[in-house]
Amino acid sequence: MTAPRFAFTVAATDGAARTGMLALKRGTIRTPAFMPVGTAATVKAMRGHEVAASGADIILGNTYHLMLRPTAERIARLGGLHRFMGWDRPILTDSGGYQVMSLGSLTKVTEEGVTFASHRDGSRHAVTPERSIEIQRLLGSDIVMAFDELVALPKGDDVAAHAAGRDAVEAAMARSMRWALRSRAAFDGGGDHAANASIFGIQQGGLDEGLRGESAAALRDIGFDGYAIGGLAVGEGQAAMLGVLDYATAQLPADAPRYLMGVGKPDDIVGAVLRGVYMFDCVLPTRSGRTGQAFTRAGPINLRNARFVEDEGPLDPACPCPVCATASRAYISHLVRSDEILGAMLMTEHNIWFYQTLMRDLRAAIAAGRVAAFAAEFLAQYQKPSVTLV
Ligand SMILES: [Zn+2]
Repeated sequence: MTAPRFAFTVAATDGAARTGMLALKRGTIRTPAFMPVGTAATVKAMRGHEVAASGADIILGNTYHLMLRPTAERIARLGGLHRFMGWDRPILTDSGGYQVMSLGSLTKVTEEGVTFASHRDGSRHAVTPERSIEIQRLLGSDIVMAFDELVALPKGDDVAAHAAGRDAVEAAMARSMRWALRSRAAFDGGGDHAANASIFGIQQGGLDEGLRGESAAALRDIGFDGYAIGGLAVGEGQAAMLGVLDYATAQLPADAPRYLMGVGKPDDIVGAVLRGVYMFDCVLPTRSGRTGQAFTRAGPINLRNARFVEDEGPLDPACPCPVCATASRAYISHLVRSDEILGAMLMTEHNIWFYQTLMRDLRAAIAAGRVAAFAAEFLAQYQKPSVTLV
């Protein structure tokens, strides 16, 4: 392969927002980018060529789910995750840490790593930074994430409640930085894979600006290809999350990709792009597609609602997707209410297109120097008071 291992270029800036290109061996990612989540080697209810047609340049694979089933070793024997699932564009894999600690049970965290029981069958497993990186190498990941420790934040925007948990957040952040160093060393020892893939570090520190700054400094000392902002979208409110982004992006290098993990709702993404985030992932468009919720420019709608049963319009009149070109709200409402598989497929495809179209529009607005105006127009239409946000 003659393509660069990793090359990130910024084409235009507009305030803190930036649009550019991240070139990897398997393809180029246009930023800001949204990565559909392919949990178990599938973006649920979509075939790979449909995901690609929506404009997705990269998808995310979940280390936790794949290590349990079918196992990283089996995927490696079958030629790696790209070949296994028939997706030849870039794949980012998470480290498994978040899901080990949110889905696993009997979880025990030590300096060495984490032991836990599978949420599926109760079997015992251990993941260390070195094992997480090994799994991601076996999968053939293009962007590997450092292994870190998740700390649950208090729910909502209550700053006092967050301040009370500072010691736990600080300890987890410090351990995550020691694990980041071990992750980097394990990645660098990965031979051919290390020569062709990239590794991102993950900033922690909860809602504390000082801890976020310490974490960013530790990551910069180690040196990564890109930097993720972790520990958000775990229950805190949007105002608290955006409040962290007001300073967290500026603490990370401007010439490397910044990735906000697990975010989010369309309005979260717009707010984060305005604050200098370049990459996102979230299960929301796919999960919502399986529960009858469609994203539209006028806010999310629920197709189980009786008002759609004879509505002959498309899910979103402004959407360029193949579903909106052919299927009515009435038809999709019928499929969803009848629990027909096609209902979940059409809803998911539309929702992924909605997210990719939003990213395309954000990139164009940044390039044109009008991202603030675009965001104001989008949010005014999307966050109408009558709409219930998901
Ligand atoms: Zn559509």
